[in-house]
Amino acid sequence: MESYVGYCNDENVRRISSSGGLFYEIARMVIEDGGVVCAAGYSCNFEVYHRLVDSLENLDDCIGSKYVQSNIQDIFYKIETILGTSKYVLFVGTPCQVAALRKYIGNNHYLILISLACHGVPSPYVWCNYLRKISEHHKINKVNFRCKDRGWNNYRLSISFDSKKTLSYPRILDPYMRAFLSDYNIRPSCYGCNHKYINSEADIILGDAWGGGVKSFAMISDDDKGTSLIIINSSKGEKIFESLKDVIFAERIDIDSAITHNKYLLISPCMPPNRSSFWEQYRLNINLRKVSKVFCSASYKTKLTYLRNELKLGTRMKTLLNVHK
Ligand SMILES: Cc1cc2nc3c(=O)[nH]c(=O)nc-3n(C[C@H](O)[C@H](O)[C@H](O)COP(=O)(O)OP(=O)(O)OC[C@H]3O[C@@H](n4cnc5c(N)ncnc54)[C@H](O)[C@@H]3O)c2cc1C
Ligand code: SF4
Repeated sequence: MESYVGYCNDENVRRISSSGGLFYEIARMVIEDGGVVCAAGYSCNFEVYHRLVDSLENLDDCIGSKYVQSNIQDIFYKIETILGTSKYVLFVGTPCQVAALRKYIGNNHYLILISLACHGVPSPYVWCNYLRKISEHHKINKVNFRCKDRGWNNYRLSISFDSKKTLSYPRILDPYMRAFLSDYNIRPSCYGCNHKYINSEADIILGDAWGGGVKSFAMISDDDKGTSLIIINSSKGEKIFESLKDVIFAERIDIDSAITHNKYLLISPCMPPNRSSFWEQYRLNINLRKVSKVFCSASYKTKLTYLRNELKLGTRMKTLLNVHK
């Protein structure tokens, strides 16, 4: 098992991807070779579901992490049918989805599996209620859970409307992201996940090589544009990685040190002791803002760190503007 940190050379792809844009480059290769990609995209109501894509024009919707459980529908059956025609199918999803697909299909030469390092997936019920609330007066036309406008390390949830208005929330202040990152609205199965990287069925595992940690185990410097953690888990994965050489930059690393900075690769999040009270309160009035404020409001220390980062960013931007004057 070999591991790397890296990112794709195409700056535009990297900007719109959640971390280093490795997903897009692998998906592009599969489509250009006549294969099909199955990945998470949005419906017209911004619900999340897995869909099949066989052209580059339709791939953009699948770029980026969606922090909601993706609806798999009858996609495994459709994948089985495509595999029967000897076409390659690349499936990208959470480790439990990947394990389920492997169990359904078995070993198949044409099936390529990529799983994500996975913290857990939030409930679609909470997501849909949240969207309904904020779109009462304006129609949503874009959602980006990992907007990098203020840098990858300071990613924001950004939601744009037809009215040209955009809400861009720092993740520590947004009630939906707070509930997710404090582990209140993730699925019960995520607290005891059996599909972490040691048991992975995937050919490749992708995650974030977060800036704070990457310094201690790699030479690569964090430019705040997004860097991926890449774990090669099979000989098929190795071949795919080899063929990316011209379109990505990658540095080999020691996985044990990387894991210490990416704990959800190995362990499950702990269930908050008052999770059931969170849900009781939430079901009473479906007011996520109110419930998040009671159960998982950011501490003053977190808010202060966030403010400090924003100020640093402001100074960096001013310096850049002066340089380009
Ligand atoms: C719910 C969730 C939790 C995550 N937790 C962690 C974590 O704790 N640590 C970590 O290092 N990385 C985590 N990741 C992975 C990380 O956010 C990036 O997706 C990953 O590094 C790949 O980035 P990329 O730039 O290569 O591609 P991107 O373009 O960002 O990846 C997109 C791919 O992710 C898949 N995807 C997106 N949303 C979902 C979804 N809801 N369900 C299934 N598949 C989805 C799509 O199929 C798509 O192919 C998580 C991702 C998700 C979706
Ligand atoms: S944490 Fe485990 S059970 Fe939860 S979505 Fe991720 S892989 Fe599935």
